[in-house]
Amino acid sequence: MKIEPNIGKNKEIMVTRPSLPPFDEYVGMLRSLWDSAWLTNMGPCHEELREKLAAYLHVPHVELFANGHLALEMVIQAMGLEGEIITTPYSFVSTSHAIVRCGCKPVFCDIREDDCTIDADKIEALVTDKTVAIVPTHVYGHICDVEKIDGIARRHGLKVIYDGAHAFGESRRGVGVGNFGDATMFSFHATKVFHTIEGGAVTFRDEALGPMLYKYKNFGITGKETVELIGGNGKMNEFQAAMGLCNLRHVDGEIARRREIAGIYRKGLAGLGVRMCPENPDVESNAAYFPIFVGTRWEGTSADAGDADDAGCTRDGKCGSGALRDALYDHLGDHGFHCRKYFYPCINDLECYRGYALDSPPTPIAHRAASQVLTLPIYAGLEPSTAEEICDRIREALG
Ligand SMILES: *Cc1c(COP(=O)(O)O)cnc(C)c1O
Repeated sequence: MKIEPNIGKNKEIMVTRPSLPPFDEYVGMLRSLWDSAWLTNMGPCHEELREKLAAYLHVPHVELFANGHLALEMVIQAMGLEGEIITTPYSFVSTSHAIVRCGCKPVFCDIREDDCTIDADKIEALVTDKTVAIVPTHVYGHICDVEKIDGIARRHGLKVIYDGAHAFGESRRGVGVGNFGDATMFSFHATKVFHTIEGGAVTFRDEALGPMLYKYKNFGITGKETVELIGGNGKMNEFQAAMGLCNLRHVDGEIARRREIAGIYRKGLAGLGVRMCPENPDVESNAAYFPIFVGTRWEGTSADAGDADDAGCTRDGKCGSGALRDALYDHLGDHGFHCRKYFYPCINDLECYRGYALDSPPTPIAHRAASQVLTLPIYAGLEPSTAEEICDRIREALG
């Protein structure tokens, strides 16, 4: 069966669409790959991308990986972390999967209600004598309270690894996001702002981490007949790196178009009782996602921390967890606008995390955000008129 792409057909609009360079631009990169037959193992495209990314992200060191998830696992391993890691339940499962798969125990900390990043004021209460690190996520590209987290880490001798999968190219007060903490993971998956089809990177502060990351991603091999440690295979290949080199040339324009769409949503949805994350004047945003939160408790500016399950009622009287959000999700889907409940459910609500969740305090803010969130379609090729139409449909559903 041939699977038709659903773009353009019946005007189905998906939540995202991978950006692609002009076809000939990518094909042009392949000539030298064919001629040299150097297809993977840190070839010329890999090395060029590594250098260009260090410059683009304004960071001292970058190591490239086959994907973001492996990058996160391998930086945890390269730091030799063993014990408890304080993390957020409001992220893609990859964040805590990496922690568990490296033999560590995730301890879930609740999030801030305004931008969904980890609530730094709640971290210190979770520190025990087994805590070794904090792994927060820059959710939707909102940069965490890096100063407070830094202070906690210093007081308790903890490592900080940011999941920066959403934060490519961002800066805060002029500092590239990859400079915060001890290390930051970026994902270059096809759905991300910048991509290498699949791919990822770790940026880091301490130069000594570089050789360790390299060993972990290349089987621990250090010479023709020497294997120093039990590493894995996390290498980015030349076809991925070539895609990255092409996409990097266009990424500024892509981000500008995303920001334009975000502006249309902000204007079009004002006054409808849907909550949007505040814009942070300190952050140069990449507009990676556009989440809205739908539920009576979020109306106005201050959230009522009361009933975590009250996520609004629909017009026909259906109430309770996620009812209003789900109704809006269906309404938009019926009109061909396919949003995502991202992140829903929370990681600590997943059956496979049951044991860990029971060992952490409850996280009502994260739970409620998950039951109210809807991320709207946003990508560089989305027509402004389509974003306006989505606003109209939301107004029609909620007005
Ligand atoms: C995409 C993503 C990852 C995983 O990255 P991959 O490159 O797909 O392995 C991890 N964390 C977050 C928050 C993500 O969005």
